[in-house]
Amino acid sequence: MTHMVKRVMIDRAKIQEMVDRLAGEINRDYEGQEIIVVGILKGSFIFMADLVRKITVPTLIDFMSVSSYYGGTKTSGIVKIVKDMDVNINGKNVLIVEDIVDSGLTLSNLKDLLYTKDPASLKVCVAFDKPDRRKTEIRADYVGMSIPDEFIVGYGLDYAGRYRNLPDVCILEPDGGKK
Ligand code: 5GP
Ligand code: MG
Repeated sequence: MTHMVKRVMIDRAKIQEMVDRLAGEINRDYEGQEIIVVGILKGSFIFMADLVRKITVPTLIDFMSVSSYYGGTKTSGIVKIVKDMDVNINGKNVLIVEDIVDSGLTLSNLKDLLYTKDPASLKVCVAFDKPDRRKTEIRADYVGMSIPDEFIVGYGLDYAGRYRNLPDVCILEPDGGKK
């Protein structure tokens, strides 16, 4: 594997401010209602854990795993359901929690699929958004931060399975010559 060095793009303090703001919006919008928060594995796991601890409306938690990246840095455009939800979302308020929207293909496919299960409402909360890369018209209802077109890792996001545990969001760069 090529050696990489990391540069911090968004530090942990900024991330926590972002999570506080998003949770505030969610708590206001769903006041008096119950929500099912569906985290999209694996990238959302840290964001999800931070976010749901700040959500004060009644909440059910579930996870799904879909894959559209096969270990590289390019979007294939194919979404495969690796693990489906366990709860029945029929008639419920569903909030999808995703790490990042890039081309938008993952989310738009996923939304189409979940709509067939007749939720009362279906919204999306993403930590990070790369609006310049969109290949389909999709907008998340709650967006933590818009970022430039760079491949990020950390705070749950990986490169070939690694770096998910970094507490800050970082950019990978070639490591000047070392192999
Ligand atoms: P989309 O279908 O929107 O192109 O891709 C969304 C998925 O691609 C995300 O859930 C994430 O797994 C992956 N992805 C997109 N951009 C990045 C990035 O900058 N870093 C990492 N680690 N994953 C990304
Ligand atoms: Mg993902």
